[in-house]
Amino acid sequence: MKKDNISDAVIRRLPRYYRHLDDLHSKGVVRISSSSLGERMDITASQIRQDLSCFGEFGQQGYGYNIMELRSEIGHILGVDKGHRLILIGVGHLGHALAQNFNFSHMGFHVDTAFDISCALIGSSINGITVHSLDELDDYVYAVRPEVAVLTVPKKAAQGMADRLISLGVRGIWNFTNVELSVEDADVFVENVQFADSLLTLSYRISQK
Ligand code: NAD
Repeated sequence: MKKDNISDAVIRRLPRYYRHLDDLHSKGVVRISSSSLGERMDITASQIRQDLSCFGEFGQQGYGYNIMELRSEIGHILGVDKGHRLILIGVGHLGHALAQNFNFSHMGFHVDTAFDISCALIGSSINGITVHSLDELDDYVYAVRPEVAVLTVPKKAAQGMADRLISLGVRGIWNFTNVELSVEDADVFVENVQFADSLLTLSYRISQK
């Protein structure tokens, strides 16, 4: 598998491929041509072939792609089969909604533990995820070695919590706090999720018409 110097744009398209293939697979579709997949995703067939060629040879001329195989290959590239351990930090409105509704296991993440400072939440369980006191965080991370933390704490706690998680060895932060985290360690990755940016992009588009 060729994997060096993959552009960010290609990496950002992979989850979309995975989602579409997963959907097709769940509907019992067995194979698809690059042009049909492209039509469905609103990208060109050559773009698909070019993207996938970064990772190896997929599909056959005249047959297209076997959906189950390609889904599994892309899932493997995305690390869906790695069973990464994930913890939630802060289970107020947003953290609780994610714990309750987001299908982490479908994305390959194993999560059964959250941390919060609120006595009202500590000891409770949300959708099988037990909320622990923040005092237990360090021991837990040393023992279990979760690789990813979902950060849904108030803004003022965000940078300090990110620093603490990184010093404990957490390598990925799914950051919902709307704080632009400063991270110096090149082996740590932050994915920011900002609903407001998405809504304002929509606002811009409808305002231009
Ligand atoms: P909330 O106040 O309902 O929940 C925050 C939770 O974090 C509480 O349960 C609190 O006890 C806990 N907490 C506070 N300090 C902590 C610490 N040091 N360690 C662990 N837990 C701690 O807030 P919310 O509405 O769920 O919002 C959470 C974060 O998400 C905020 O930073 C908010 O700005 C942000 N937010 C982001 C988006 C987005 O688009 N990404 C949308 C809404 C809110």
